[in-house]
Amino acid sequence: MQEEVKLIVDGRRLDGRLPDELRPIKIEAGVLKNADGSCYLEMGKNKVMAAVYGPRKVQPKHLADPTQAIVRYRYNMAPFSVEERKRPGPDRRSVEISKVSREALESIIMKELFPRSSIDIFVEVLQADAGSRTACLNAASVALVDAGIPMKGIITSVAVAKVEGVLVLDPMKEEDNYGEADIPFAFFIRNGKIESIALLQMDGRVSKEELLQAVELAKKGAMEIYKLQREAIMKKYKVEEVEE
Ligand code: ADP
Repeated sequence: MQEEVKLIVDGRRLDGRLPDELRPIKIEAGVLKNADGSCYLEMGKNKVMAAVYGPRKVQPKHLADPTQAIVRYRYNMAPFSVEERKRPGPDRRSVEISKVSREALESIIMKELFPRSSIDIFVEVLQADAGSRTACLNAASVALVDAGIPMKGIITSVAVAKVEGVLVLDPMKEEDNYGEADIPFAFFIRNGKIESIALLQMDGRVSKEELLQAVELAKKGAMEIYKLQREAIMKKYKVEEVEE
């Protein structure tokens, strides 16, 4: 008989968090010398690196758009990022994640300023523990700011899961595996305010009321992450000022 996994005990989750708490987050901007912008980010046990190149000449040339920049996003999981070695290279999941993440970022990048150019975003998952797409989007946003790409605001991403009937913020692996639903969100934040939802995916089932509650919970988490993204960007430029 399979042993039952209890994910919430006395209102607390397996790692001691309350339902509305994020995992610890660490963000560092400008960590790669050879990229125009970069960011290293940890969200719980997720460890990800984002690198941004551009605006630069499109390669191959025939992909160039004479009216605006093209944006490319590549999500990649390192073979050592998960418990069982992951087969290297793109798969259906990484292609899907790359597409929806690109669409979220593209919606706020001022592409029309850079005709015939490309803005290339690479995210590498070094260690995955559920929510890696959200961690990567948060890192990519900071890397884009670090690269000086003009944007209408910033993208901040977090997931909500339904676990044993309870909505929980920023689910970890066990909650993702055994929960009833997983809903990654990304928000467009401008001038410190959430303007719109830039990404919403759903795996599993929730009621309409639960979905509305999930949006509120995700917004709360996103505002906390947004503050840390800002701090990471400010920290980098402050250090540079001192060094000069
Ligand atoms: P996200 O990481 O954005 O939550 P998923 O919900 O698809 O994306 O994946 C949840 C977790 O499952 C990942 O963070 C990772 O830990 C694990 N996982 C995903 N793909 C693989 C794979 N090919 N091999 C092993 N583990 C994987």
